[in-house]
Amino acid sequence: MKEIVVLSGKGGTGKTSLTASFALLAGSSAVVADCDVDASDMHLLLAPVAEREEMFYSGKEAVIDNEACISCNRCLEVCHFDAVETDGTLYEINSVNCEGCSYCERVCPVDAITMKPSLAGDWYVSKIRSGARMVHARLGIGAENSGKLVARVKNEAKDIASKDSKALVLVDGSPGIGCPVVSSLSGANYIVIVTEPTISGLHDLKRLRELIVKFRLPSGCIINKADLNSGYTDEIQKYLKHEKMDMLGTLPYDEKITSAMVQGKSILEEPYSGSETAGIIREIWQNIQFKLGLDGE
Ligand code: SF4
Ligand code: SF4
Repeated sequence: MKEIVVLSGKGGTGKTSLTASFALLAGSSAVVADCDVDASDMHLLLAPVAEREEMFYSGKEAVIDNEACISCNRCLEVCHFDAVETDGTLYEINSVNCEGCSYCERVCPVDAITMKPSLAGDWYVSKIRSGARMVHARLGIGAENSGKLVARVKNEAKDIASKDSKALVLVDGSPGIGCPVVSSLSGANYIVIVTEPTISGLHDLKRLRELIVKFRLPSGCIINKADLNSGYTDEIQKYLKHEKMDMLGTLPYDEKITSAMVQGKSILEEPYSGSETAGIIREIWQNIQFKLGLDGE
C-alpha cells in the first residue's frame, strides 16, 4: 500500500480540487483521507455518504456539579482563561475558553469540579461516487489539537486500506507547515505540492520543501495557474531542478475548474471532462502512479 499526501503552502492554490480529481481517477483502488480538518471542503466535491460517524475527544475540560457547589467563587478567581461563568447562583464552564489546566478542580473546597474528556469534533467513514471509501472529519468550533484529529483520520484510512487490500491512501493535507501538516506526513511515500506562480507561492514551496526534507520524503510539484505569471513559473521550475524535486506538471488558469466546483464536481466530470485542463490532470496522475509503481496494480 502506498500513501500520497497532497500539500500546499497556503489555502486557495487548488490543492483540494486537484486531490478530488486524483481521488476520482484512482477509483475504488484508493482510500481517501481529508486531513485538512481545520477547513475541510473536499466533501463539497466528492459528496461522501456517511457509513459511520464517531466522536473525537481530545484534552480535558472542567465540569461543575451545581448540586455540590457552595458558591465560594474560588474557581472564578483562579481561572486565567475566563472560562468560569456564573449568574451568582449557577456556575458553568465555557468549553471554548477552558484550557483544561485543572486549577479550578484543585482549589474547589467541595470537589464540585471534575475534569472530563473534551469533545473536539466528529469523524466519518463514507462512500464517494468512485466507489472508494473516504475518511473525513469536522473539528468542533474553537477546538484545538487538529494534529491529533489528522492522525486519527489518517490512521483510520490506513486501517481500511489495509483491511480491504487497497493499493493507495490518498491524503488531502492541511495548508501551511504547522502541526496538522507534520501529522499528515508520517508514513507517507510521496508528497505532491500544489503551488502558484507568485512570490508567496515560491516562498511557501521552499518552506514546505525544508519540512519535507527533514522527513526524507520524495516530492513533486504542480504549478497551478502557471500561465498567469511565466516569470515566477520559470523561477519555481529552476528551484525544483536545483532541489531535485519532480516537476509533475503545469496547469493553466481555467475558469472551468471554478464552474465545476460550484456544481459540486471535479473538472474530470461532464461537461468538462474533455477540456485541456482535465487532460493535463489525467497525465499528471499517470505520472504520479508511474513514479510510485501504482500503474500496474
Ligand atoms: S480547567 Fe483551567 S481553564 Fe478550565 S475552567 Fe478550570 S481553571 Fe479555567
Ligand atoms: S470552587 Fe467549587 S464550590 Fe466554589 S464556586 Fe467553584 S465549583 Fe462552586
